[in-house]
Amino acid sequence: MSKDKDGLLINYDYCTGCRACEAACRQEHDFAPGLYGIKVVEIVLNRGQTYNFVPIPTDLCNLCRELVSQGNKPVCVHHCMAQVMRYGPVDELVQEMLNGRKKVLWTPQAKPALDPITGRSLKITEKE
Ligand code: SF4
Ligand code: SF4
Repeated sequence: MSKDKDGLLINYDYCTGCRACEAACRQEHDFAPGLYGIKVVEIVLNRGQTYNFVPIPTDLCNLCRELVSQGNKPVCVHHCMAQVMRYGPVDELVQEMLNGRKKVLWTPQAKPALDPITGRSLKITEKE
């Protein structure tokens, strides 16, 4: 594993399902309707007794590359009031993942994301 590879660690045990990460990402990257950089999935277990909200980054997530290169956090991390999202080197996130439970560690794919309608490469940009 590359030492400088970055990722997101999401502790969904404490995710409230507020979807602020979804909205912030969509607004920042100006996604067309129906496109998401991260999607919060609701999982109902035990016949409705247990709810889990699991935020899942999609193929469109580029870890807010430009914002991060300017010293900012990814917008999803910045807007998560529950502070359950962490951005950083995967090596460090793996260590953090070993503590606690219900965590998802995610890294973006190397190949470019494709527009689901046209099939062409989809470039995502941050706003000025
Ligand atoms: S890191 Fe950036 S692009 Fe990826 S899900 Fe979060 S806000 Fe969206
Ligand atoms: S902003 Fe945080 S608490 Fe809200 S849905 Fe996203 S990860 Fe969960």
